[in-house]
Amino acid sequence: MDHFPIFLAVEGRRIVVSGGGETALAKLRILLKTTARITVLSGAPAPDLVKLADQGKITLIARAFGPGDALCAALVYAANDDAAEDARVARLARADGALVNIVDNLEDSAFITPAIVDRDPVTIAIGTEGAAPVLARAIKADLEEHLPVSLGLAARVGKAFRKAAEALPMGRKRRDFWADYYFNAAPKVVEAQGAAGLDAALSELLAKHLADAPTEGRVDLVGAGPGDPELLTLKARRLLDRADVVIHDRLVSPGILELARREAILIDAGKEGFGPSMTQAQICALMVDHGKRGAHVVRLKGGDPAIFSRLDEEIEALEAAGIAWSIVPGITAASAAAAGIGQALTKRGRNASLRIVTGHDMKGFAEQDWRGLARPGTVAAIYMGARGARFIQGRLMMHGADPATPVTAVENASRTDMRSIATTLGQLAATLEAEVLTGPVILLYGLCPRTAEAALPLPHPISLADRKEEFA
Ligand code: SAH
Repeated sequence: MDHFPIFLAVEGRRIVVSGGGETALAKLRILLKTTARITVLSGAPAPDLVKLADQGKITLIARAFGPGDALCAALVYAANDDAAEDARVARLARADGALVNIVDNLEDSAFITPAIVDRDPVTIAIGTEGAAPVLARAIKADLEEHLPVSLGLAARVGKAFRKAAEALPMGRKRRDFWADYYFNAAPKVVEAQGAAGLDAALSELLAKHLADAPTEGRVDLVGAGPGDPELLTLKARRLLDRADVVIHDRLVSPGILELARREAILIDAGKEGFGPSMTQAQICALMVDHGKRGAHVVRLKGGDPAIFSRLDEEIEALEAAGIAWSIVPGITAASAAAAGIGQALTKRGRNASLRIVTGHDMKGFAEQDWRGLARPGTVAAIYMGARGARFIQGRLMMHGADPATPVTAVENASRTDMRSIATTLGQLAATLEAEVLTGPVILLYGLCPRTAEAALPLPHPISLADRKEEFA
């Protein structure tokens, strides 16, 4: 971030604009929304500028910018449509100690004006550090469409009620009250009765929240998906936005953790300082402890919480402690990896079932139904299998699997650093040993990337005889 976004106090302060044409007028349109005192300097002001001056909205000085004109100014805009004149104005203004923006000249400006969505007092500033103004405009248009015009109104009335809301204890109770107001009561009231109904609605809502019993803690066991924040479910996103405590796995990507509420306590259950991982018992105890204290806990797990995630142990601990819980499914690594290589996990005539297996269990390398896996056309998503690749390869071949069976290892599925390594069962261990794998890896046994299909001998054409056996 080369530019730090802040909201500058400008009430009653001077903002100076140098320029008399369309560029200056464009800046004034946004500046006039502020409570600053605005001075415009121009030797040849456009008629619209003169009109604004006549209406008392700006102070117009009908001459070019000169030394001392920026004294005590909070901001100065050089908007002359003339690079030499803008540079001269900027030099003088800097000498007066002002922060200067030269319109359309990022390099020589001390600040930039963002794209703004105005629901005063809710103001959203969007900046791209000059990289993509088109993008900023598109985001602005999107937000304009999604934020009701009544939002500003609700916030203004709400602001005056903040003192009264202090009757509620700080933290969760008070937050719930405000969330209820902004997202539930206010939009309805404004639509039905306009702004006039908001005061009464606030008092009524406060009485209701004051009468409510203390909040009970709860734990949601939430799937964070494979890493791409856009693959979170809407529900996961909403819960993250409300949680008091987020207990997450090592696999959960930083981009997703950023979506947690700023005040939330984030606990990394994948590691403890630089020490070893937390034990499952410690994780359960942590959830129970926070839940009992009335917190809303999100137990955030990579992928889907119901796949190789020790979900039952956590639910049992919550049940034993009498804490309410729910499961929010997520997109599992197998789905993301298959998508990443352009393949379906099931396919007519190839595999009518998908096996989800783990390469590793509590005892070490996991034993499987190797005979079943070795049958032609089998597709399996092997989680935690990279380290046991040699073991898996050996077992499968021993049970008659074709060494030419395609296997694709997908590292960091769905993330920007996703990588797929296509190989065959016979080459699996040697291929993976030659690679440096640092992220999570899933093995898609029986699948090769769609783009590699043409290069391979037809993978496992299933003869009718095979299929008869399969359905026997
Ligand atoms: N609950 C998770 C799986 C947890 S087990 C899920 O549904 O995805 C952890 C294993 O999942 C890792 O060893 C790896 O095999 C796999 N995995 C998780 N995220 C992955 C990703 N983004 N890319 C590849 N494999 C992933």
